[in-house]
Formats: sequence, structure tokens, C-alpha cells
Amino acid sequence: MYEAAARIYLSPWFYLLVAAILGLEVLWPAVRNQKVLSRALAQDFVWFNLDGLFKMAILPAYIGALRMAYDGATGGFAFNGSDLWPVPLTVIAAFLLSDFLNWFHHWVRHKVTAFWHFHVIHHSQREMNLFTDLRVHSVEYLIAQAVMFVPLFMFPLSHPTIMGYGAVMIWYTRLIHANIRLNFGPLRFILVSPQFHRIHHSIEPRHRDRNFGVILTVWDRLFGTLYPHYDEYPATGVEGVNLQPPARLSARQWTMSFVEQFLYPFRQFRRADGRASGRRDVLHAE
Ligand SMILES: [Zn+2]
Ligand SMILES: [Zn+2]
Repeated sequence: MYEAAARIYLSPWFYLLVAAILGLEVLWPAVRNQKVLSRALAQDFVWFNLDGLFKMAILPAYIGALRMAYDGATGGFAFNGSDLWPVPLTVIAAFLLSDFLNWFHHWVRHKVTAFWHFHVIHHSQREMNLFTDLRVHSVEYLIAQAVMFVPLFMFPLSHPTIMGYGAVMIWYTRLIHANIRLNFGPLRFILVSPQFHRIHHSIEPRHRDRNFGVILTVWDRLFGTLYPHYDEYPATGVEGVNLQPPARLSARQWTMSFVEQFLYPFRQFRRADGRASGRRDVLHAE
């Protein structure tokens, strides 16, 4: 447990990469009047710490249980990739499948009301920042971990390869949530950039349910959910959902703010008038 905590909090890489992303926010801010060290950053840092706690206390056992369930259901099936294909091809195939499933799971979170109730927490941030990637409700978090890891069981990947993929995913998703005016130039047609993902978080109706991709933009292109303009940096959030950080530095208020976010989805299930979770299709149909 101590080792896991040290890996998260004492790694110089963590501080270097956080400083690099914050530096880009200073150099090229998407929203100029947003502070780099904002209350929103502090609010999402609470979710970052919850993720750290999960990584230390729950995830190893959870992934182990998923592995057992997978082996039980499939007899431990894995492509015999090292015989059929060279290792780099196995890694590419695993990455493509995982990235597609992440796209699909993201689409489901928007299209199925029960999933949206949880996903709205992620979208409610109005001052996007590098820790918004982990502003993810724990129910959604555990499902997303399963969607990410279970397909990888099908491939004969080494532990360091899987851990490396996880690390790239973490920092990539932090970068695309940061307040950065960056669309990756010519790479914007292939890779999800901070600009591309900001469109996904946009509060404006014309951007609704666009750009679900996590790393590759190809899935949005293939399935018609791509927003084809790469120079817009809209305001973010969800109309009718107000889960902003408290104005005052009060431990009680900050705790209550987190509890409110955590309980928010469960409260929406009790509402049956279609206004739950700021369901944007329903709200705008009115
Ligand atoms: Zn989303
Ligand atoms: Zn996001």
C-alpha cells in the first residue's frame, strides 16, 4: 500500500508532467480569464485523490476478480499473438480494440439515461483542468476500468506493457482536459486534442453528443459523431446542472460539495420528469 502511494505521490514524473501541463495552460490558455490554480482544479483534485485511494485499496483486487471472471467464462482465452503476429502488431491490435471500446462506452454514457446520470458529474465542470479527467463518479469509474482492462486479457501482453498503456492513457487524458488552446495541427485529424475534447464538454447545443473519442478520432469519423471544426473553444458544463466548487475555504463546505456530487446521480433516479441530470435532449426538446 505504501509502495502504491509512493508511486502516485512521490514520483518526480508526476510533478514534472503536472508542471508541464500547467505551463501550457499559462502559455496558451483556451479560456484566458481562467486561473491556472483555480478552485475548479482543487475541486477535481479531490477526485484525483479518490482515484489514488482506489488504485491503492481496491483496483488490484477488482482487476484480479475481473480476471477470474474472464478466465471462468472463456477458459482463459487469449490470442496466440506471439506465434501469429510480431509483438508490435499485438500491441497495436490491443490498443485499437481498447480505444474503440472506450469510444463505445463513452457513447453509451451519453445515450443511456442511467449512465448519463453518473457521467454528468464529469461534464458539470465549467473550468476544465488537468484533473477533470478523474472527475468521474465511482460507479462509472469501476465500469470504465472493466471496459479498459477486460479486452486486454484477450491479448498476450506483458505486465509492463499493460502498465505502460495505463500510464500513457492517464497523462493523455489529463492533457486533453486541460485549459489549453491546442488542436495538434496536422495531427488533429487522427488524435484527440484539448480542442477536440473541449467540444465534447461544450455547453452549446450545436456541440452536443459529438467527439466521443479518447485517443483516436477515427471512431467519431466512422460513426458520424465527429464535429468537423478545429478552431472553436466553447464554454463547458451542462445546462441546468450546478455543481461548482464552494466560494469559501471551508472544510465543511468542500466536504459537502464532494458529497453533493457523489449523491447527485442517485437523486436523479428518483426524478421521473425528464429533467433529471440536465438531460440535454429532453431539456432542449422543450
Ligand atoms: Zn462525455
Ligand atoms: Zn472529458
